[in-house]
Amino acid sequence: MEAIHLKTVDPVSQNLFRSAAKHGVRLLWERYERLQPQDGFLRLGLSCPYGCMQGPCRIDPFGRGSEQGLCGLDRDGMVAAFLLRLCLHGVLETMNERGAGDTLSEKSWPHGLTKRFSKALKHLGNKPLSLREIDRSALLLQRPSESAEVLVEQALRLGILTLLLSERKAPSRKTQKRFDCQVGYGLLSEEKIFIGVAGQPAQKAIESLVRETSRGSASPYRILSLGDWIQTEKGFLPFACSSGEAELLLSTGSIHLLLAGPKTDPSLSELCKQMEIPVVMSEKMVPVKEILSLARHHFSTHSQHKTISEPSFIGQSSVAMTIEELKPLLKKRSIKKVALIGGSDTPQQPMGWLPVELATALLGRNYLVAGWGDAVLWMIKNGLASEDRESRAIPLDEQQSPILALKGLSDARRIGYLRGICFTGLKTCRDLTVALGLAGLGMDVCVASPLPLWGSEKVRNLLSERFADVGGTMTHYDHPANPEEILEWFLR
Ligand code: SF4
Repeated sequence: MEAIHLKTVDPVSQNLFRSAAKHGVRLLWERYERLQPQDGFLRLGLSCPYGCMQGPCRIDPFGRGSEQGLCGLDRDGMVAAFLLRLCLHGVLETMNERGAGDTLSEKSWPHGLTKRFSKALKHLGNKPLSLREIDRSALLLQRPSESAEVLVEQALRLGILTLLLSERKAPSRKTQKRFDCQVGYGLLSEEKIFIGVAGQPAQKAIESLVRETSRGSASPYRILSLGDWIQTEKGFLPFACSSGEAELLLSTGSIHLLLAGPKTDPSLSELCKQMEIPVVMSEKMVPVKEILSLARHHFSTHSQHKTISEPSFIGQSSVAMTIEELKPLLKKRSIKKVALIGGSDTPQQPMGWLPVELATALLGRNYLVAGWGDAVLWMIKNGLASEDRESRAIPLDEQQSPILALKGLSDARRIGYLRGICFTGLKTCRDLTVALGLAGLGMDVCVASPLPLWGSEKVRNLLSERFADVGGTMTHYDHPANPEEILEWFLR
């Protein structure tokens, strides 16, 4: 308990954590501690990623054990292939979300960034980019057949491909200049029946639920996101918490039903089962009336602990969804430096620590700060994105980030003001692939979570050389980076 501040920077979350511990509820942090030390081979990229049944082969990082795999694969080939494997997952995740589309021609490239994409591809084999990159990568990962140089180049081509695919709008998405956004436990201070939504349920399902529960001014229901960015006709669902705090919130018993969409972590459903909170899987197409009845039944049959009663624990802001919305903010005369900060919660660091510390320090130095993901939820929650502030962080649409900001900066002729793009935490392979793609596009990128590249100096050098060809850099650390290190990087 004495290390509670190492789990989250939010004092309310710290209280909830104490209460969960008192009731014997096991949460993410406990699992994280029990998992230590996590697989050192994988963390360094020295666990063979090929589709091969002769393994698994691992290479000893200290040179005291095996130096090659059974087939003779060395550490450089293994780390490079591991990187390519992660990037292949990253591009597939993006295709799954945005669709493959039918063209990747130059005409479809992000407005204002065409020259950068063109230059990047020139330095990455000088071949046109197509969805065939995916087949080629899968073939390269069947058995070792190519050098580390080829694998690294292919990983970076997938990074660029992921950025281009990210540019596509998800089929169900509506376009609007900005959406209001609320974040914080204070949303639970009213006497309501709360339905928590996690993962990515189909937009139609969410919209019918929201429509049904917003009829009349005195609806007894409130629909809240448990950290995922879930868009409805009118905006994003209000966020009760960031994604890393979802279990903590469920452990309070304040949520009366969990609507779980695809990509919901299994731990959330498991915790609901333990706490007898009803769970509805969104793909099961359960009628709205039935969902509401389940939530109402739980509410009326379980004692309501009022763990969160302070309505002021809510941060508000608006999320920029288009370049038109962003451009005037970027064009302010006083702005000469821009920092982009985004990423997911991770138990490697106290949750909220990096985004809050960094945004506070950079706003204080007259940087324009824009952010996405959990990182910006923490900024909103802490009032750093409040529109009442003279200098505030700008939340960006999660799905288009950070490309939306690059397009806005380019359109406003302010791209030269960009001091760097920082990923405060990585969750999916897509995050890593986007980070690589951005550095491959000539941006300065910093990743706070350790990457599985420390098993090969050659691969790290190859990446640095490729990024340098187009004026980009990627800074990463062999430990979870602290705010001082990243601040130093921004102020370099
Ligand atoms: S590809 Fe080579 S290193 Fe990898 S598992 Fe097979 S034999 Fe081992």
